[in-house]
Amino acid sequence: MKKRQLAVTDIAISPLGLGTVKLGRDQGVKYPESFTIPDDRAAADLIALARELGINLIDTAPAYGNSEQRLGGLLQGQRQDWVICTKVGEEFEDGRSFFDFSAAHTRASIQRSLKRLRTDYLDIVLIHSDGNDSHIIEQESVIAELQRCKRDGLVRAIGMSTKTVAGGMEAAELFDVVMATYNPGYDAERPVLDCCFENDTAVLVKKAFASGHLCTQGENPAQQALDFVLAHPAVSSAIVGTINPEHLRANVEAAERALRG
Ligand code: NAP
Repeated sequence: MKKRQLAVTDIAISPLGLGTVKLGRDQGVKYPESFTIPDDRAAADLIALARELGINLIDTAPAYGNSEQRLGGLLQGQRQDWVICTKVGEEFEDGRSFFDFSAAHTRASIQRSLKRLRTDYLDIVLIHSDGNDSHIIEQESVIAELQRCKRDGLVRAIGMSTKTVAGGMEAAELFDVVMATYNPGYDAERPVLDCCFENDTAVLVKKAFASGHLCTQGENPAQQALDFVLAHPAVSSAIVGTINPEHLRANVEAAERALRG
């Protein structure tokens, strides 16, 4: 897959990224079907296939169970081939999420991600919103600390995974990257994407397949979803979660077809 520049940064990413919730967490998720977290062999094969197909963007988070720790092992020896996106602010323990957007937690979370991912820099770090986007942006110290981490060379680009239109539009003016939800069944956040386009802010799309719910209906729903998502000019990449190698291949083909037009 041909790489594209992540807005004004010098980071080059594939237009399809790999989401890794299902590599680390099976509790409190909203997928249409139950699944088994892949073992180490299957996970390594999936990562190797993604790389072979031209995917270089991988999305994880401290809240995705042991996804970060697993990726630390899986990506060893190939760090330079990957653009790693992780998050700060949400923790998931004993089946429950809790949130901390303080400066101290932000710095500690980034240091822990570096250790778990066995690297000395993170390409993209996003604030993992609890839904109160505007409060986080206006009242919490997470943004200032992310900027310090960027200045300190720990992080290359910063952003926010938002959950509201108002918060997404504020984020579009502040960050390198916004992660927003956008798919053929949900276009309410289109104004966020438009605002990102005007501000040269990159968009990473989450839930491009509505967490798989779109894949249960219609003819070639993956193609329809990627045609829709990748047509918006602000979108740098659609982060699709899969642990199925055949789905991964189909999604890469669909992304390539969508971009050929
Ligand atoms: P998604 O990418 O919309 O959908 C993933 C689901 O679709 C999986 O259950 C997958 O099942 C299925 N699927 C994928 N390709 C398919 C195909 N070709 N045919 C049929 N089914 C297919 O949803 P998501 O995992 O919720 O979101 C994607 C990523 O975005 C996450 O992994 C995560 O990295 C990120 N995310 C971020 C946030 C946030 O707040 N920051 C929230 C949600 C998600 P198989 O495994 O069987 O393929």
